[in-house]
Amino acid sequence: MVKKIDYHVHTRFSDGYNSPHEMLLAAKDKNLHELCITDHYSTMKPALSEFEIEGYFTSLDEMKKDNSTGVDLFIGIEVDIYSITSFEELEKYNWDLVLFEYVFHLPSWQDNFRKVLRFKKTFPNTNVGLAHTRFSRVSEAKLDYVLAKLKDYQIIIELNTSYQNYLDSWFNYLNEDFLFSIGTDAHSRERLGDIDPALNYLKNRRIPENKIIKL
Ligand SMILES: [Zn+2]
Repeated sequence: MVKKIDYHVHTRFSDGYNSPHEMLLAAKDKNLHELCITDHYSTMKPALSEFEIEGYFTSLDEMKKDNSTGVDLFIGIEVDIYSITSFEELEKYNWDLVLFEYVFHLPSWQDNFRKVLRFKKTFPNTNVGLAHTRFSRVSEAKLDYVLAKLKDYQIIIELNTSYQNYLDSWFNYLNEDFLFSIGTDAHSRERLGDIDPALNYLKNRRIPENKIIKL
């Protein structure tokens, strides 16, 4: 039985409605074992600026060490790959999970994808994933290339229960050779921890639960 996890959650540090502490308490109320907070960085939405990233990391790190709720807290960040101009601030911290969003969103996806691969190559021990990715602009001809790179570089594919990206037909090409993470993309306490649809996807595809990353 998989631990009850939620690896994609927003707080008031970006566009969420609750504080990290409120989200952690809600996670405890919902009997989650693990919570990873992944506020926005570098995007058009309300997001952490390069000046706020240090305060974000430090305050989550204190909560992580405190661990009074019994819920294991992890420190993540969601980066808009299309908007980011410098990786300098991002690269200063030891993230538990870095999620890149919009990687295949635009016709120019190949540049974005290369940036993700380069980041993972620089930080091979960091969990690097694609948030609610849809492979929407990847042509059939390029799909094998993309999937091979995801496998080689151990890039995590997120199953996001808000966007239900796993219903996309490209997800029929995925199997147990890939790594997955699961998140609700909750922006408030209410949606936190609703991960069953993603677990059902894995079950239907006969992908074992040990392919879900452990932070
Ligand atoms: Zn998000």
